[in-house]
Amino acid sequence: MKAEGGVTFADLNLRPELLKALTGLGYEEPTPIQREAIGPIIAGKDLLGQAATGTGKTAAFALPLLHRLERSNRQGPRGLVLVPTRELAMQVSEAMYSYGKALGIQVLPVFGGQPIVRQLKALSRGVDIVVATPGRAMDLIARKALNLGTIEMVVLDEADEMLDMGFQEDIEGILGATPSERQTVLFSATMPSRIDKLARKHQRDAVRVQLAREETPDGEAPKVRQSAYVVARQHKAAALCRVLDQEQPSAAIVFCRTRAEVDEVAQTLNGRGYTAEALHGGMDQTQRSRTIDRLKAGTTELIVATDVAARGLDIDTLTHVVNYDVPSAPEAYVHRIGRVGRAGREGVAITFAQPREHRNLKNIERLTKQQITVERVPTVADLRARRLDMTKAALRESLLEDDLSLLRRVVEELADEFDVMDVAAAAVKLSHEAGGAPVDEEDIPEVAAGRQKEHRGTGFREAREGSAGAGGNRRERRGSGDGTTRIFVGAGRAARMRPQDLVGAIAGESSLSGRDIGSIQINERFSLVEVPDAAADDVIEALRGTTIKGRKPKIRREV
Ligand code: AMP
Repeated sequence: MKAEGGVTFADLNLRPELLKALTGLGYEEPTPIQREAIGPIIAGKDLLGQAATGTGKTAAFALPLLHRLERSNRQGPRGLVLVPTRELAMQVSEAMYSYGKALGIQVLPVFGGQPIVRQLKALSRGVDIVVATPGRAMDLIARKALNLGTIEMVVLDEADEMLDMGFQEDIEGILGATPSERQTVLFSATMPSRIDKLARKHQRDAVRVQLAREETPDGEAPKVRQSAYVVARQHKAAALCRVLDQEQPSAAIVFCRTRAEVDEVAQTLNGRGYTAEALHGGMDQTQRSRTIDRLKAGTTELIVATDVAARGLDIDTLTHVVNYDVPSAPEAYVHRIGRVGRAGREGVAITFAQPREHRNLKNIERLTKQQITVERVPTVADLRARRLDMTKAALRESLLEDDLSLLRRVVEELADEFDVMDVAAAAVKLSHEAGGAPVDEEDIPEVAAGRQKEHRGTGFREAREGSAGAGGNRRERRGSGDGTTRIFVGAGRAARMRPQDLVGAIAGESSLSGRDIGSIQINERFSLVEVPDAAADDVIEALRGTTIKGRKPKIRREV
């Protein structure tokens, strides 16, 4: 989709294979750093870019690198990317693999901790791009396994981190082993003088890209309650639901980076009993208008959207803007949250950040001159307390407004037998339980804000196959990771639910047979059933459409 007045990836003259891959990944338009950096790198220029994690910096160098190295001659590696951590080495090579699959370019991540024999073998088979931590690169050079004589482009990613981690000498040594006419691209989140020195020593006429920080004039930034939650990626979906449970927005937009993420988040939310609709650039105008109308009319509570799709969207009733990821630039954040808090209304902006992205929050605070309060994801106890408060409020309202004379008789009769206080407590219990599914989940682990470094030489968590191709796709699975998904059914022992009732309902209504159903756990007020990931959507839909033990319990995916 063509961005209104914006630059598209096609405008950047990237190869069709790369453009296709980006569409497939659901990237709708380049981020600011990509807009600025891709052109000069394609043109063969050295580049010094200031960009932190979350700005889209990986694609900003990976796309032009893949574009330039399209045809492989396999005389030796032609591209070298140096990164501070093994984790980043894996991330970068996986990103390159996903962008460049159709170009047949071989990318190899090498880092300490992984058996070197495997890396030696992969190198001897021939690769086009090596993504390495400096220590391991030096090691491989010393063993004559990595010959840098054929390198055409070097990228130093997170250069400030590499210097902080004591890699200065290694970097100098590695650059010294590459041809002097190579192209050198350097990305760094900060620009201390050491980086400047490094750049001046090893780059020629570098184009500098530092995204202009337009200060927002005082009073122009929207007055909105802004909070953020720092959670690890694998807990983000659960945290989103938890925060929405707490906030109870009447109309909200949840912003995601890609179309794929929009679909995934919308599905998760629907699976958890929200009415959420996806809105992205792949939909035509009529479809989009209909979705927006449903939000305005209150038929839908949540819209999950990309920036492009939400452009120009103006909804008076909007109460919350949720950033499922920290936006790639502070300006995008300001633009997004400008949709709430209009005309004196109270607006709420909520941002989910991964620990690595904490720094980006600080940049946004600097730009908006407003504080973003980092909050704790509500715990199970918080939500329980909130539900009790809601029950209490409902009872208070009933005590004030309803005619209870007929019901007093029941209390009087029971009072002959029980203490009045106990009678009241039992009535509160029933009313409370009728109010919705109980909070039954585990707490989401808290993570400290700030960078999580993996230091050199520490234990290696996961052995991976050498080539990025075999390194596989690390996109999150939506199941538990063992191929099964747990489904929550909002009825348990109290409703006399038995395992055979669930097996009957599932086998009778979905494509699964009883044999395919995993463990079943029946608790007092809810049950959990394990089914294969691939069948989960089908089973959820089937169960929602049926009655079990004469009820229509709440059905959702356990995240
Ligand atoms: P990075 O700053 O390179 O760590 O990228 C942050 C995240 O943004 C990654 O998950 C990328 O897949 C994603 N991303 C990068 N560029 C774009 C884009 N143009 N549109 C949407 N998502 C993007």
